[in-house]
Amino acid sequence: MEDTLKDQGARARLVRELQQEGITDAAVLHAFATVPRHFFVPEFLRDHAYGGNALPIACGQTISQPFTVAYQSQLLEVRPKQKILEIGTGSGFQAAVLHAMGAHVYSVERQYDLYKEAEARFQRLRIRVAHKHGDGYLGWREFAPYDRILVTCAAPVVPEALLRQLKIGGALLVPLGEEEQRMTRIVRSGEDSFERSEYGSFQFVPMLRNKTSHVKK
Ligand code: SAH
Repeated sequence: MEDTLKDQGARARLVRELQQEGITDAAVLHAFATVPRHFFVPEFLRDHAYGGNALPIACGQTISQPFTVAYQSQLLEVRPKQKILEIGTGSGFQAAVLHAMGAHVYSVERQYDLYKEAEARFQRLRIRVAHKHGDGYLGWREFAPYDRILVTCAAPVVPEALLRQLKIGGALLVPLGEEEQRMTRIVRSGEDSFERSEYGSFQFVPMLRNKTSHVKK
């Protein structure tokens, strides 16, 4: 696949749309102007890559709609060199956006096939993101604590392990709920104190429990 003038034009148009929808963080807009989203969708959906919708990827999952990715990235208040844990690598697009914003990204995906596909994309696009196949409810202890944690699937409850892997002063962003989710930001203000705020309703694919797929190759 190539990055054609047409793709670049579609990307510039998407950036303008995101601005109209209220995305103001310059680093987020810059990331959307540079990350080639069409590399992260199935080939047959290439022409829809820069449209406003969520799109299907492998394993019955979705790449979130551009606005949702941009909105989460903005709410996260990403600064260069921050250590960010993402739960739900999926296509790898959100991780690539955070990377383009200058963060050190760690991402966990429970579906083995998606993990492998994302790996191929990161290599091909030379995006340095640490990622693993595992259960996001457990976070990624080895590299904790994190400045930011971003959950990109719908969690029924706040996973305890993620709260413990947050730096003091750090923030966790998680869509909370079953059918519809409230975008919830939790700031760890002290060892055992957390402050919660909510930002609108969204619909994500569910965060699934304890059933990582084990396809070994
Ligand atoms: N951030 C992704 C969005 C993918 S959708 C992107 O930019 O494309 C959410 C992803 O969360 C799916 O890939 C799904 O397989 C994954 N997921 C669901 N439950 C999970 C869990 N317990 N641990 C890790 N990943 C999980």
